[in-house]
Amino acid sequence: MTSVVVIGTGVGGSGIAGLLAGAGYRVTVFERNEFPGGKTSMYERDGFRVDMSVHVSPRGEKGPIGVLARRLGADLELRMREPWRLIVGDRHRDLPLAFTRPAALVKIALLIGAKPYNAVGALRLFRRVLSIKDQSDLAPYFGMPASELIGSYTKDPNLYIFLNIMGGLMFVIPASEASAAEFLWAMSNWARDATTAYPKGGYGRIPESFLEVCERSGGEVRLSEPVERIVVENGSVRGVETATGFQPADVVVSSAGIRRTVELAGRGNFDDGFLERVETLKDSDGAVTVKFALDVKPTDNLITVYVPRGFDYEDYRGRLEAGDIPQDPALYIVSPTVADPALAPPGKHLLLACAAVPPSLVHAEAARKMSEVVARRMSELFPAITDHTIWQHGTSLEFISMMGGRGAGEAIGLAQRYDQDGPDRPDPRLPVEGLYAVGVDAGGMGIGTERAADSAMNVFELIASDFPA
Ligand SMILES: Cc1cc2nc3c(=O)[nH]c(=O)nc-3n(C[C@H](O)[C@H](O)[C@H](O)COP(=O)(O)OP(=O)(O)OC[C@H]3O[C@@H](n4cnc5c(N)ncnc54)[C@H](O)[C@@H]3O)c2cc1C
Repeated sequence: MTSVVVIGTGVGGSGIAGLLAGAGYRVTVFERNEFPGGKTSMYERDGFRVDMSVHVSPRGEKGPIGVLARRLGADLELRMREPWRLIVGDRHRDLPLAFTRPAALVKIALLIGAKPYNAVGALRLFRRVLSIKDQSDLAPYFGMPASELIGSYTKDPNLYIFLNIMGGLMFVIPASEASAAEFLWAMSNWARDATTAYPKGGYGRIPESFLEVCERSGGEVRLSEPVERIVVENGSVRGVETATGFQPADVVVSSAGIRRTVELAGRGNFDDGFLERVETLKDSDGAVTVKFALDVKPTDNLITVYVPRGFDYEDYRGRLEAGDIPQDPALYIVSPTVADPALAPPGKHLLLACAAVPPSLVHAEAARKMSEVVARRMSELFPAITDHTIWQHGTSLEFISMMGGRGAGEAIGLAQRYDQDGPDRPDPRLPVEGLYAVGVDAGGMGIGTERAADSAMNVFELIASDFPA
């Protein structure tokens, strides 16, 4: 039997662990945290089951998470809930998941204040988005910023604001840095599938259900056991070291992030060119979140997106980097109890809000102020918060670092930037025999957790061809 060590139990690690164990590999999974799930972990408080982050699966059943769950036979139910709500300034509209239907596009255009004379360019852009069918359609867009793509179709400032926020939701970096190819791919699949969903039992059910498959197939999952070293001899992996000793393996597949994986394997095992490339890789921005446990239902919408009128993502981020705290951030808001009321005690509800912040917001005082701003804006958007909050929990970059194990507190992982996309993305086959990267950093495409699930399936195929079970 070929033996494989998997590092990490996020969507990427748990997904590939399930696939490998099911295919007959001898799998041992090591997780540094005492709980599974990485950035999709959950916690319990006063009978509420709460996502540590703020998630939805943009493509639900039709996307990589649904596909992987079916392939594994995982016990996972993804629930779609319409409509979602878009708030721009002090006006809002409820929209279908198929938000590129003509009627929905008209509603969005009126709400964001797009100018009628810009409609032709906007429609041509949406046609371009929807024309992307497979990854070969993306070749002309690698190396191009998403802002350049948008600007080549429309000069409408309000449409740019909206698309910049949508890109920010997907990649947690502004359109001036995001890859046009990644933007087209993620947006086209999201819009075409229109199956955005949330799992019964909370987002943590995704990695939990994948790990259940791994264990049912004979794999072993060891929590609270960080990998301290990936042992490499003569250019090939030999296994890993943890506090309990040496675990031999023919293959090591790591979701700890490319940079951390290289450190664990020892920089001396890689050539200078590769190390220089790894040094230049940039992660996505992070996020502050505020979670509310309430004794009333604050909304019927699973998802709400709040866009301050005139919001300039690049300026917002620049101000945060300069130490200024913007008073009106764009917000991504999920109410998991709309999809699964059992996540709270009877009659109680959860409302989770999230605002993107750059990695420079490590200063605890700045993060605290930003949480206060988010909480204040939330109580204006959802007045029930003022009198019906049972408890409130704010998190910042350290919390994300704790979940994912990487220093910067990045929300997604490796940034989907125009200068590290397509041929410039790291290869999941790392230049040591038997060493692979899995998860958002390499091997997949799409948005956040779906990218990690896509990576799990693609990297599994590589391992199956390089090291048959
Ligand atoms: C606030 C927030 C909101 C988000 N919203 C969405 C959303 O709505 N939709 C979406 O799809 N995505 C969203 N994301 C992004 C998504 O959560 C991540 O991109 C995705 O979960 C990353 O999965 P992964 O498997 O690559 O890595 P991770 O989940 O980071 O897993 C890495 C794992 O490796 C473990 N590890 C690291 N080092 C070691 C070691 N040495 N030994 C053992 N274990 C180790 C870590 O503990 C962790 O469990 C959001 C993220 C955040 C923070």
